[in-house]
Amino acid sequence: MSSIYEKYQLKPVINASGRMTLLGVSTPAPEVVDAACHGMAHYFEMADLVDKTGAYIAGLLEAEAATIVSCASAGIALSVAAVIVRDNPALLVQLHAAPIDGPDEIVLAKGHNVNYGAPVATMVALGGGKVVEAGWANECTPAQLSAAVTPRTAAILYIKSHHAVQKSMPTVEEAAAVARAYGVPLIVDAAAEEDLNRYYRQGADLVIYSGAKAMEGPSSGLVLGRRQYVEWVKLQGKGIGRAMKIGKEGILGLTAAVERYLSAPKSSGAEMARRLEPLLARLNHLPGVRARLAWDSAGRDIARAEVAFDPAQAGLDAAAAAQRLKAGTPAVYCREYHANEGRLEFDIRSVDDQQLDTLGHCIETLLKER
Ligand SMILES: *Cc1c(COP(=O)(O)O)cnc(C)c1O
Repeated sequence: MSSIYEKYQLKPVINASGRMTLLGVSTPAPEVVDAACHGMAHYFEMADLVDKTGAYIAGLLEAEAATIVSCASAGIALSVAAVIVRDNPALLVQLHAAPIDGPDEIVLAKGHNVNYGAPVATMVALGGGKVVEAGWANECTPAQLSAAVTPRTAAILYIKSHHAVQKSMPTVEEAAAVARAYGVPLIVDAAAEEDLNRYYRQGADLVIYSGAKAMEGPSSGLVLGRRQYVEWVKLQGKGIGRAMKIGKEGILGLTAAVERYLSAPKSSGAEMARRLEPLLARLNHLPGVRARLAWDSAGRDIARAEVAFDPAQAGLDAAAAAQRLKAGTPAVYCREYHANEGRLEFDIRSVDDQQLDTLGHCIETLLKER
């Protein structure tokens, strides 16, 4: 449907940045699109649809319960609201309007208090919670996490993400042990993670995933966990959850995406590495450019091309190269997290072979122009 690009005069994009929200995240498989289309074309008793798809997914993932929400950000806000409101009918419809008598503090390692495109703390506030930071920017021991827990604590929130500080942070199991010791729930934001079982098994009461990231579903989110907490998340549909409603197409699309994700063969890091070889060789011919394979810093099975720019020889630095690539046609988006250290990363999970060739050409052209 290239006419969409023409009709609205949209710029074609090569997404070498991974599951990037700025570009629309991912491209669901045909069977996922079919399920979403079926959802759009039919009516359902919506509560029934939510319950049955949630139970189906919970069965697939061997969790007590699950429910589909509009995105992972909504999942964070709704999980926070769930542990604060629980089944209090007055508070459900008065969150943000009435004072909260019970626990409303959400304990979070300071190194987890990040901005993933929007701040975690904004979602906590949206759910009626108050962030309490534990430890330091570069350190949080289980003892420091424990020290932040008080009778006002509604939950511990753990951000499992490449955005968070990785070193000297507690593990999910350690956070779960602290949560159990103090009788508070543990919420894990695993929005972009690939393992749909691990954090629940490690003791989280609620685990949140972004439907469009690893699972490549439509715009959606998944909250799974212990039955009581998931029920309280669902109850928020009569409260703040109404402003984050997901439609029947998203619910059926994500359910199909979860099922597919568990059964379809995954492209492995080794396969990405093989596909990247010609690009690396091509870029290493360019003056002032050094390209090598780099594995995901957060430990996921993802291989990327790491491209370092020597401004003296290449004629431009990494940040300028990224700007120029985005400004070109097609617009090439890469990962710029290390641009300040002189490196860009190219993630080819959403790049087909023809685009991979175009990408190499765009970088060559950029350097020849200098
Ligand atoms: C992407 C992301 C989110 C938000 O996911 P959405 O589905 O876009 O709302 C939340 N937390 C982390 C760590 C993320 O990477």
